[in-house]
Amino acid sequence: MLNNLTIQTLIAASLGVAASLLFGNPDWLTVPNPLYECILVLKSVFLSALRMLIAPLIFFSLINGITGIGNIIRLRTLGGVTVSYYLATTGIAIVLALIGVFFIHPWTAYPPVMEVTIISNDRLLDPNADSIILLVKSLLSQALTNPFAALVNLNILGIVTNAFLIGLAMILVLPANSSLFVTVRDINQVIAKILGWVIRLLPLGIFAILFDFTLKTSADSGHSTAFLHQLLHFALLVVSITIVHGVLILPTIAYFITGTTPAVLFRNIARPMLVAFSTSSSSATLPVTMRTAEENLKIPNSVSSFVLPLGATMNMDGTALFEALAAVFLAYLFGIELSNVMIITIFMMAMIASIGAPGMPSASMAGMQMVLLAVGIPLEAIAILLVIERPLDTIRTAVNVEGDLIGALVVNSRLH
Ligand code: ASP
Repeated sequence: MLNNLTIQTLIAASLGVAASLLFGNPDWLTVPNPLYECILVLKSVFLSALRMLIAPLIFFSLINGITGIGNIIRLRTLGGVTVSYYLATTGIAIVLALIGVFFIHPWTAYPPVMEVTIISNDRLLDPNADSIILLVKSLLSQALTNPFAALVNLNILGIVTNAFLIGLAMILVLPANSSLFVTVRDINQVIAKILGWVIRLLPLGIFAILFDFTLKTSADSGHSTAFLHQLLHFALLVVSITIVHGVLILPTIAYFITGTTPAVLFRNIARPMLVAFSTSSSSATLPVTMRTAEENLKIPNSVSSFVLPLGATMNMDGTALFEALAAVFLAYLFGIELSNVMIITIFMMAMIASIGAPGMPSASMAGMQMVLLAVGIPLEAIAILLVIERPLDTIRTAVNVEGDLIGALVVNSRLH
């Protein structure tokens, strides 16, 4: 059990709070103290390591995703139905999250508690661009940047545009068996491996983040209680909306398109969902997902072997839902008002980030930073999400895998 990352993170979180309460001294905030400085170094190393991966991860996994989509579309109906289903259900998940968050937003009973110390300069939307023409001009000039500059400057729009164009050109110019497709897939695996190493450090990072947070807020207990309430309400909202999507929306889609009743559906797919819940990884669950599709749902291998591997990396309803909701929550915490354009940006970025996230534990945390950058939320805010991230990953990964399996059912029913 101690090998389980979720358990380790929870233990590290408790230790961080306890150590800060027992040994921490609020004077350290003004007078340098070696122990506290080491903890701050640990915190910033962890956050920088996560930030380091945003650009290459999104760039290569989007090229990979786009060429994957392109190759599958070559399979005509199979590809068309698969991609339409994936995009439509991810879109529905994000809309559900946004509707839920704007109608319920339970944490707003408390005032925003975070001080906006650093608003990143690299925000996607220029706050001074108050006319549509200026806004379009600013977006276009960011989008049409050379790929190296975009990667170096963490220009998200430039990275996404370049990845899209390169992926599209690869599909149009290269033969399906070109080694470049394999190379991009390999690079992706390498980056995912490095991300895996960074995620392994999560318990250390969480320890440092919570030690620091507790030290800063222990002087003002009203502030920290309000914050914990907000975080708890946010987590409950994520869980509730993820359950609505997984128990209501997806099974309804399955029922109307394939005639499979929810009872039959859940009886057949319970196993991979449980594996996904306990591993927090769609990719690690893939073998069980494939087997369930073929043995329980009677989906031919010709369909499942295309639809499911693509789904494990690109179709993540739970992840997209979480990212959109988290972006709105953090905007509120930092007192950032969201305009309509920003909400649409969150929608697009959550979609792209969920396609770009590998199916690994906490993988979406790298892409989440892209969503934050887009609306100008300080990247440091990611530390807040990391506190609550592990338990939430279990349930969203289960819904991610459920979405893939229902996708396979839908595609199969359209073809046969
Ligand atoms: N753990 C998720 C998955 O593997 C990805 C994420 O949302 O972090 O599907």
